[in-house]
Amino acid sequence: MLKLYNTLTRKKGKFVPLKDKKATLYVCGITPYDTTHLGHAFTYISFDVLVRYLKFKGYEVTYTQNVTDMNDRDNDILARAKKLNIPWTELVNYWTNRFLNDMQALNWIKPSNYLWASKNIPEMIILIKKLLKNGYAYEVSGSVYLDVAKKKDFGKLSRYSVAEMLRVAKDFEEDLTNSDKRHPLDITLWRATEKNQEPHIPSFESPFGKGRPGWHIECSAMVIKTLGSQIDIHGGGHDLIYPHHESEIAQSEGATGIVPFVSYWLHTGTVHYQVKKMSKSLGNLVLVSDLLKKYSANAIRYLLLSHHYREPWEFFEKDLIVAEQKIKVVEKRLVDSSEGKEEFEQAMNNDLDSPSALKILDRKPSLEIYKALGFISNF
Ligand SMILES: [Zn+2]
Repeated sequence: MLKLYNTLTRKKGKFVPLKDKKATLYVCGITPYDTTHLGHAFTYISFDVLVRYLKFKGYEVTYTQNVTDMNDRDNDILARAKKLNIPWTELVNYWTNRFLNDMQALNWIKPSNYLWASKNIPEMIILIKKLLKNGYAYEVSGSVYLDVAKKKDFGKLSRYSVAEMLRVAKDFEEDLTNSDKRHPLDITLWRATEKNQEPHIPSFESPFGKGRPGWHIECSAMVIKTLGSQIDIHGGGHDLIYPHHESEIAQSEGATGIVPFVSYWLHTGTVHYQVKKMSKSLGNLVLVSDLLKKYSANAIRYLLLSHHYREPWEFFEKDLIVAEQKIKVVEKRLVDSSEGKEEFEQAMNNDLDSPSALKILDRKPSLEIYKALGFISNF
């Protein structure tokens, strides 16, 4: 019996899908303005292992992932494109393709639905209209905001106080000082195009006037469009719990009236390098494309799986050298058998305990376990 740790309940619980033997999964995707680093790979390979394990257990999996190629801020994509003097769409296509190539090199199963936010704006407008109709949103000068005070259970995922939300929202460059908002934490659903807006910032038509959607409404719309008003599993990096996923819940449940929007919320730990979180702004990135020049894709996968998906960890190159040695030993001894399968399932049923699953593979190198964990097989 598969048990998963649910951020919403803070407990490990038995995985019971909404429909027998079918599982729906949504994972928040990249903002494509730069290259794929090991922190991204950890998140997406962790969910790749979840998808593979659900299939291994006989579930039919429908998996959606998005590309956040647009949002309500003058964001990194727009700033970078402006600096390079190229259309933002060109930058987005380039980095999305680079990401997909890196992930394919790591033997990633491409999601059933792979969606660009900018191509799903009508679906976002439908949701915003529903939120206005249901009294959860308000319009001021062509912008639309979610009235957080009307959603009495706002905060149920992060369990943050208002003070903590304000602190975190600031880091995410949420629009906290906008005087059109009834409360600083109200969520921007639609941002009106400003007079004299710089030409590199895109504008879309809507019933509220020209503008562009907020970051959080994008995922609500793409979840509902591809998987329905209720889904089994929603995943993403740990830093998306608030404001992004908290807002997704408020918007989706407010628009559809169906609760819960998501049965299981799964979040991956943060990857550190040189003591700090791996991030573009800190300049301490370890790029997947660079690692692939020196190490095999299977070694990188082995290193990633040697950390439980919820665990924050630090990258040391020496660990990757060890991972390469270990996977080579496994590969030399691989046998076409399912020995160790029961033990493997016990480990994976316990909230996808991949570090224990790797130890079983080390001891009993069976092809079935090797393949179930997504290693590239030449057997
Ligand atoms: Zn998202």
